[in-house]
Amino acid sequence: MTDIKKYVTTINVFLIILISGVFIINLFLSKFINTLSLVINIVVVGIILITIFSTITTYYIATNKNVDNKLMKINFKIVSIIFPIISKLAKFIGISKDEIRKIYIKINNAYIYSNKYNFKGEDLIILIPHCIQNHDCKLKVTNDIENCKKCGRCKVKDLLGLKEKYNTKIFVATGGTLARKIIIDNKPKAVIAVACERDLTSGVRDIDKIPVLGIFNLRPNGPCIDTNINIKEVENAINFFTDK
Ligand code: SF4
Repeated sequence: MTDIKKYVTTINVFLIILISGVFIINLFLSKFINTLSLVINIVVVGIILITIFSTITTYYIATNKNVDNKLMKINFKIVSIIFPIISKLAKFIGISKDEIRKIYIKINNAYIYSNKYNFKGEDLIILIPHCIQNHDCKLKVTNDIENCKKCGRCKVKDLLGLKEKYNTKIFVATGGTLARKIIIDNKPKAVIAVACERDLTSGVRDIDKIPVLGIFNLRPNGPCIDTNINIKEVENAINFFTDK
């Protein structure tokens, strides 16, 4: 099953729960308290309609169809609100939370790519996870990636190349707290974040004042060890934010 099908399956379960809830309320409550029952009905029907609108929009975005920028913005806000419920529900019905996170990042990125920016390279921050560094390398790149000796055993070398070419700032973020501190200290106008599904989603949800493009790291050796980055994807993101 594709990611979007898993997302839609989870939403269907969510809608079934809501509709069953309304049915039960109508069965019991309306006999006693008519006004309260009416208000609950209106609220739940509203949530159902908003969820259906959001799911159709998400489906269009996930299947790379053209969606109006304003609809994308509204949809992203709706998905951000229902995301915690949907990801828990997905886990409950045996769908990995990461599949839902992938859809979340996809609609975040699609919305950002539907806007236009004209930042300078130095206005951008690229956040990378520590597991990008080759596990045998003893150099301390977490403090300063300039400490990399560019041996080429990992993508830190190529990231340094991007830093020099575009004058962007690159930091190794060893956790959400450090990532937040880096952003507060450096005040970037946009962030390009590379991480796994879980860290990327929490990072994008944390930073809502500036655009954050999310790029998934590649994990040929399993999670958290000698992970990889598609450097072209990072470079495309820099070119997009700098309007090149
Ligand atoms: S490219 Fe840099 S960080 Fe990676 S292993 Fe070589 S020296 Fe270490």
